[in-house]
Amino acid sequence: MEKIAQRCIVCELERSDGIAICEQFICERCEQEMVNTDVQDEKYPFFIHQMRRIWLRKDA
Ligand SMILES: [Zn+2]
Repeated sequence: MEKIAQRCIVCELERSDGIAICEQFICERCEQEMVNTDVQDEKYPFFIHQMRRIWLRKDA
């Protein structure tokens, strides 16, 4: 089965492996990074920011 590349909402790169949340695509790499990112990590606010964009798009 051919996989279609989609633009990841977090890293904004076109990837074929990942998950869709609220019709927005998050690549496998970012998903794993988010899962493994501690709340104390300096990257965490970045992920929250990117995730918020999903909710904002949903409302639009
Ligand atoms: Zn990504």
